[in-house]
Amino acid sequence: MNSRRCINLNHRRASSPIRMCAMCGEVLNHQIPSKECSADDHAEKRKHQNMYCCDCGEYLLETQD
Ligand SMILES: [Zn+2]
Ligand SMILES: [Zn+2]
Repeated sequence: MNSRRCINLNHRRASSPIRMCAMCGEVLNHQIPSKECSADDHAEKRKHQNMYCCDCGEYLLETQD
């Protein structure tokens, strides 16, 4: 059981439009295949202040390259 509280509304949906939660990195929808992201993809997501990649679940804020 995961007791972590996340305010992302996608957790409440029966089927999320994205695979991973951008705020906690948990898988929201197992039916969406995970993507292989490029550095550019992740740079773009960082601009939107996502903590985690919603496609592959990688933590975005630690690596700043
Ligand atoms: Zn979440
Ligand atoms: Zn990614």
